[in-house]
Amino acid sequence: MTAIDEMLRRNKTAAMYHPSGLGPSPLKHLAVVMCMDCRVDAHVAFRLNPGEIHLLRNAGGIISDDVIRSLAISQHALGTREVMIVHHTDCGLAKLNEDEFRALLSRFAGYRPTWSVQAFSDPHDSVRESMRRIQDSPFVYHTDAVRGFIFDVETGLLEEVLADDEPTGQGKPVESTADAD
Ligand SMILES: [Zn+2]
Repeated sequence: MTAIDEMLRRNKTAAMYHPSGLGPSPLKHLAVVMCMDCRVDAHVAFRLNPGEIHLLRNAGGIISDDVIRSLAISQHALGTREVMIVHHTDCGLAKLNEDEFRALLSRFAGYRPTWSVQAFSDPHDSVRESMRRIQDSPFVYHTDAVRGFIFDVETGLLEEVLADDEPTGQGKPVESTADAD
């Protein structure tokens, strides 16, 4: 049995609990941009329910043109107002050298990719750059509620990265003022 076969088997059980009647606009009016890392599970980390958020994922959780495209649709057409960026400790992109990886791809493909790998060495820097890219985008409607975090893959806890922190410095621990639900 392939992994996809197993997913199909699991889906038959999961569909029995699938809620119907939800609309396409996220109930929390929130879009989360997150790395695709398999240890960073948004549904577990934030105890998500169906219909609550837009979840945009790619390698690194970086703000590519396609993420801007999705955020533009999320905000202008589907009513989200806040953006949460979640990068994480031990990210694969932090282990890649931009030039070496592009050279490897170009040897493999026969030509260099048109896109940037966007490797980074410190997730604090990549979170700050991601916040700036969203805030500077002319296509994003709400830029006043963009916050960035680093998810610790060992503890499952978030550390907030403030936009004005010193580059490569440590962010502040997250202190939640909201009641748990
Ligand atoms: Zn990652």
